[in-house]
Amino acid sequence: TPVLNNAYSKTEDNGQRGESSLPAFKTAKEQLWADQQKKHHQPQRVSGSSYGGVKKSLGAGRSRGILGKFVPPVPKQDGGDPGRGMQYKLRGAGAADRAHPMDERLKNLEPRMIELIMNEIMDQGPPVNWEDIAGVEFAKATIKEIVVWPMLRPDIFTGLRGPPKGILLFGPPGTGKTLIGKCIASQAGATFFSISASSLTSKWVGEGEKMVRALFAVARCQQPAVIFIDEIDSLLSQRGDGEHESSRRIKTEFLVQLDGAATSSEDRILVVGATNRPQEIDEAARRRLVKRLYIPLPEASARKQIVVNLMSRERCCLSEEELALVVQHSDGFSGADMTQLCREASLGPIRSLQAADIATVTPDQVRPIAYSDFENALRTVRPSVSPEDLELYENWNRTFGCGK
Ligand code: ATP
Repeated sequence: TPVLNNAYSKTEDNGQRGESSLPAFKTAKEQLWADQQKKHHQPQRVSGSSYGGVKKSLGAGRSRGILGKFVPPVPKQDGGDPGRGMQYKLRGAGAADRAHPMDERLKNLEPRMIELIMNEIMDQGPPVNWEDIAGVEFAKATIKEIVVWPMLRPDIFTGLRGPPKGILLFGPPGTGKTLIGKCIASQAGATFFSISASSLTSKWVGEGEKMVRALFAVARCQQPAVIFIDEIDSLLSQRGDGEHESSRRIKTEFLVQLDGAATSSEDRILVVGATNRPQEIDEAARRRLVKRLYIPLPEASARKQIVVNLMSRERCCLSEEELALVVQHSDGFSGADMTQLCREASLGPIRSLQAADIATVTPDQVRPIAYSDFENALRTVRPSVSPEDLELYENWNRTFGCGK
């Protein structure tokens, strides 16, 4: 379809990224075959039990992904975690290390889709740490326990302790759901795939179903993997009369893939769905996303942390009292609203310059950001979530959410 062609040619135009890091598909595929063949002829290194599968020196053997792409190593754990110091990564227990016919699965996929996934959906951004996410302490603690540790130590998180294959993050827009998805992947040393569900139905018209299949196949080859699906409600909404045949097929394929990941003990794939409209997700999908975590608006302490974090990179002269006032006056703001507030305030010193001076002023002649800049910013930046919407989230959390 023209839409798909556009998307694809965009990849080609955007050649720098592809050329610098991704080999042409043929080469990549050949690489994959070569890797697989090598594995067939190598003795199995790991019995899969306890420390037999633990290899120091991060990501060794995985520094190149199956398509020859660099896979970043597991970042250092933050302080206070039981996982602290766990700078090695489990190998061998997962399918990626065995002589599996996963190459066969990729063989039947369209090369352009694989390229698209590698270039546009597989995220190569900088790692995210837990401290980068202000507030949401309950969700962070739950996620560490039920998802990150099991991904790091599949040998002890077995049986009843086995991790869920799908979790749902729900709550108002701009509260850090995407950040959390990225953080899970960074902390678990997993490859991060991020896609918006609406793009499956709109961008890849008629191809969404194949795209879902290709996405899970590539993720399986790059595991451990986190597949983050934003606006998951548009993929898993309750079936209505108006539901298009193509959307229905995408949804069915997605549920099949999710079930496949859930029943295979080999697969280390976690699906993280995010939504601002949890009430639209139907029962079948809800059942599969077993952990449903509410990501609420940031409380005062979290709003303070966001301002302090952002201002620590700028010249700013807020006193403790002024900072407390900013926090007090931003009640009801989301994390994204707080970021917008700081951005707006940071323009204050520039606006106070004469237009003619902008061309000649040196950076140190720009005055620091002051409380008056926040006062002005608070006049223009308003909370993006209404109290009525909040009520909806809280109700849904009481009925279907897990935890606080
Ligand atoms: P949406 O539902 O609109 O996709 P989201 O919940 O996924 O939103 P993010 O995309 O993660 O929200 O957040 C948008 C931006 O807002 C982030 O890049 C970050 O700058 C800021 N932000 C949001 N929440 C937080 C938070 N808890 N801590 C720090 N920054 C935050």
